[in-house]
Formats: sequence, C-alpha cells, structure tokens
Amino acid sequence: TNRVRVEPQTTSAAPSFADDDDVKNNSRRLRLLDVPGVGNPYFRRCEGINGDRAIIGQREVVNFASYNYLGLSGHPDVSAAAKDAIDRYGTSVSASRLISGERPVHVELEAALAKLVGAEDALVYVGGHATNVTTLGHMFGPQDLIVYDELIHDSVLGGAELSGATRLPFRHQDLAGLDALLTRRRGDHANVLIVVEGVYSADGDVPDLAALVALKKRHRAFLMVDEAHSLGVLGKTGRGVGEHFGVDGRDVDLWMGTLSKSLASCGGYIAGSRKLVEYLRYTSPGFIYSVGMPPSNAAAALAAIQVMQREPERVTRLHERVKLFLSLAREYGLDTGTSAGSGVVPVIVGDTLQAIRLSGILMDQGINVAPMIYPAVANDGARLRFFISSLHTEEQIRHTLETVARELSRLKRDFSGSFEVMT
Ligand code: PMP
Repeated sequence: TNRVRVEPQTTSAAPSFADDDDVKNNSRRLRLLDVPGVGNPYFRRCEGINGDRAIIGQREVVNFASYNYLGLSGHPDVSAAAKDAIDRYGTSVSASRLISGERPVHVELEAALAKLVGAEDALVYVGGHATNVTTLGHMFGPQDLIVYDELIHDSVLGGAELSGATRLPFRHQDLAGLDALLTRRRGDHANVLIVVEGVYSADGDVPDLAALVALKKRHRAFLMVDEAHSLGVLGKTGRGVGEHFGVDGRDVDLWMGTLSKSLASCGGYIAGSRKLVEYLRYTSPGFIYSVGMPPSNAAAALAAIQVMQREPERVTRLHERVKLFLSLAREYGLDTGTSAGSGVVPVIVGDTLQAIRLSGILMDQGINVAPMIYPAVANDGARLRFFISSLHTEEQIRHTLETVARELSRLKRDFSGSFEVMT
C-alpha cells in the first residue's frame, strides 16, 4: 500500500508533504518518464470524442487508448438522452437517492442492467472503482475469506482490504490452484468469495466462467465477476462473459460492472438476487452516503444499452476487428500474450523505456496508444495496451500493426540497452 507518511516535525516548521518519501519517489519517477525526444506519455490532452480517432495537440491521430468499445460515446442518441435528462432534471440530483435523489431513469437503468446480465435486480453507483471498494468493504468481514486472481483490479484489492477479511490471491487463471486453495482453507471461514474479471484489463484474457461456477458450487463459495471490460464486448450480443459461456446469470452471486466503457457513461453497478440488491440499496455506504448518479449519466448508459441491442452489428464488428488485430499482430511476430478475443490486446515489449519510447514514436506517426509499465504490470512486462473499438476500420488496424512492427524492430536494433526500473 502506498500511504503518505510525513515524519512528525520536531521543530516548529509546518509539515510538508514534499518531505514524504513516497511523494519524493513519485517526483523522481516523473522525471524519468520524461524521456528525451519523446516526452511524458501520460495526461495527453484530447479534444473531441475519443473513438477510432482522437484529436491531440490539434492533430487527428488513430486512437487505441480509449475503451469506447462499441463507439457509443459520441453516438447521437446517447448524447441526446444525456442532454434531455439535463433539461428535465438538471445536472445533479442534489441528494442521496435514499432521501430525494431518486429519478425514474435510475430505476429504468437498473432494470435494463439486471435484464442484460440475467440477474434479478441491480443497483448503480457513481463510480466503478467506488462500487468495488464499497461493496466488498461492506459485505465481508474479518471472519470471511476473499480469494482473487492475482491480476485483479486495484478497486477489488481496496474493497477486500477495507472488509478486514482474510485475503488470498491465486495465480493468474490457475483454477486448479484455486481449487486446491479452497480445499485447504474453506473450512476456516464463514463466507468465502471468489473474485475474477470477465476480461483481464492488462492482458485481455478471459476466465473459464463455467468452470468457476462449478468450482464455487463445490466449495460453497460466492462468486463475483467484474465485467468492466467484458460487458458489451463478450457474447454474441454483448451481454458479457455470462453470454459468452452460456452461464445462467443467477449462477453468479455478484455481477459487477462499470458504465464507463462500452456503456459510454460513468458509474458502476452491482447486479444479483433481489434480496441482495435490496440489502445494498438500504445499507451500502458508498450508495446511501453518496449522491445519486447524475441523471445524464444514467440516461446515457440506458440509451447505450438500447443502441447496443438495436444494433447488434456493433458487437459483431468489434469481434471481427479484434480477430483481425490479433491475427495480423501474430503474423508480424508481435507478442500479444494471452489476449483472447476481447477488446484489450497488449503488445508486450518487456523493457519499460522501450515501451515508453515506442508509444512516443507511434504518437509522432499519428497513432495514440498508451504504455503500461511497472507497477501496473510486472517489471519485465511493459507493454502497449491497445483498446479495439467497433469503430476501427480494417485499414486503420493494418496500418497500425505494420507501423508497430516496423518501429519496434527498429527500436530493438537501435536501443538494446535496458532500463533501470523505477520503484
Ligand atoms: N474494474 C476494472 C476491472 C477496471 O478495469 C476498472 C477501471 N478501468 C474499474 C473496475 C473501475 O471502473 P471505473 O473506471 O468506471 O471507475
């Protein structure tokens, strides 16, 4: 964990966060990130709508750095729904939904989400990250066990820590290891929760949900699936990892997802049994002590679901584009790791500096893709992470992979020295 620690001052001088070791380390890392000739790859300022293209520094570039998987952010119907909601309800509901913040659009969105994932009911929260933190922190306690894939998202780690439950990671996608772990530890705990992602956000691989359901039943455990990157992406009609594996939605105890990716909005949801959602609706701290979701966000997500269902060809096209991207990347000998048909395709470079450099070179050539480096991934696992959208054309994908392959081999030839990793 990364807590700011300022030593108590012995003099009368006022304490300053600038004296904290973590704050100093961060400044040092930022200086290292500023690669000569390339610049800092983060916080690039974009104009317009980030779809298959983005406008950065007054230049239009091909964009692979946004999770607008179905191109619904910027869709006229989605934008119109948000604007209508503002005209009707203003920009804030100005209260917790429990008090006077509830609007019809919240309820309609929750019904649509529940139906989409095949659960009885759903509840929306103002942030995806906050949804995981508050739900896990609230529902589990010191007598419980939370087991999670070692690559699980930060928000799950935060919620699990807050709960005070015993926390145990299992090796990425190692269901036999998970099985053995539960055999050893199940008996010691009241409740056991297994947490996985529908699509892992750094690698783009997909867990075997059918096997996980069988496993959780055998061990009398609960199963939570974070669908941040699988809703709208997996399944023939974009209904997520459940549809992909033909799993009954009721066999997953906690469906979690975000509205910020395929659904072109902002917020998170939990879907599950009617009783569970009712309990959360009246007790979940991040819900009852937080303002209701802005109606414009709820309306945008609801409209996005409607467009997705009306135009299933968006999902089909996304699948085709992903397939093309993966097959071309492999033809060029690029390392796409375990990516398996999702909208996330990494090109693993290994060395941190080379990943940052490659991202800068691609930007110069009109391609926006973000590097992912330590500590987000392993020290030697630096990569460019491509988010594919249904908006991408075949031509954009062909051109991008040709450029990536050429520039990566040039980079490997010219800069073979490695980089002292920042810790
Ligand atoms: N879960 C996962 C797996 C994520 O990748 C993310 C963010 N990218 C979140 C939760 C948090 O969602 P949000 O960005 O909507 O807060």
